[in-house]
Amino acid sequence: MKNIKDYDLEALKEELVSIGEKSYRAEQIFKWIYIDKVQTFDEMTNLSLELREKLKQNYTLGIFKILKKQVASDGTIKYLFDLLDGNAIETVLMSYHHGFSICVSSQIGCKMGCKFCASTGIAFARSLSSGEIVEQILAVERDENIRISNVVFMGIGEPLDNYENVVNAIRIINNQKGINIGARHISVSTSGLVPNIYRLAEENIQCTLSISLHATTDKKRSEMMPVNNLYNIEELLKACKDYIAKTNRRVSFEYALAKDNNDNLEDAKRLVKLLHGMNCHVNLIPINKIENGKFDKSSNENIIKFRDYLNDHGIVATIRRELGSDIDAACGQLRRKNLK
Ligand code: SAH
Repeated sequence: MKNIKDYDLEALKEELVSIGEKSYRAEQIFKWIYIDKVQTFDEMTNLSLELREKLKQNYTLGIFKILKKQVASDGTIKYLFDLLDGNAIETVLMSYHHGFSICVSSQIGCKMGCKFCASTGIAFARSLSSGEIVEQILAVERDENIRISNVVFMGIGEPLDNYENVVNAIRIINNQKGINIGARHISVSTSGLVPNIYRLAEENIQCTLSISLHATTDKKRSEMMPVNNLYNIEELLKACKDYIAKTNRRVSFEYALAKDNNDNLEDAKRLVKLLHGMNCHVNLIPINKIENGKFDKSSNENIIKFRDYLNDHGIVATIRRELGSDIDAACGQLRRKNLK
């Protein structure tokens, strides 16, 4: 069975034509799926019974079952969804004054091996399909009866290691006839797969690129993130500059502060030098200690000092609010310990 949510609007038109239907049916189906959020083909009442039957025989709507739902004291919700193939994934819903943000997973497990991340050390199963990425949004919207306004690809997985499906999902999320979330409200976070940063810059999607930088020297970054052995800081920043030039978008750098590791004034100074003159923003994340992890959270005092140093030297930096920590839903805490 094919998942009908794997198709963006253009691809769905082609698919329908290939099974002998008119292409405008694709827009009708899109509306049922993404605006009316129906869960069965039977509900698509402006399609003939015959077409509905044909769709039922050959396609699935890929509806997730909620295996587990945990609500944190700050209102953050972590979902564990059943993918119906023996796998499960985590998705996090965060509520901000400006609306709801969802943190979606792009893979089941992750190959990147970042030393501070809870997804590391758990076997990689597979990448998610586009349909499985967009269904995370629909399932949460249905469950909470809300409209999500921001999507961040910061759950489990490396989005740029699942490039085609992630880009295709972004097109569905962004399409006005689809989920209709503006590209500027969609962030893709990467550990730094440089060739695919160049590719993303060419896609003509105005999404925000977030780079997990976390260190200011190659030695330190390679210790924390093995991907740095493949693409070092210089190559990474060059790709970011290309992204900024091509998309006119500000790049966001994530920097998780670990005590006595990357949080001293020398690091802040180097960071200022590295990012000098770039159209960027730095998101400081108090690192979340993972089970048996060797990185501890920096003190609040250090985090504030670090931020102030950046801001005083022309780099816009903010400290990310820690949400969902009491249900292991905070940055880098998603893991497969609950998964079947
Ligand atoms: N693979 C992508 C997206 C997933 S991780 C990436 O690396 O960007 C989302 C963000 O959480 C990344 O910036 C990641 O470095 C950060 N992160 C991972 N583990 C963390 C931890 N223990 N504490 C704080 N942030 C963490």
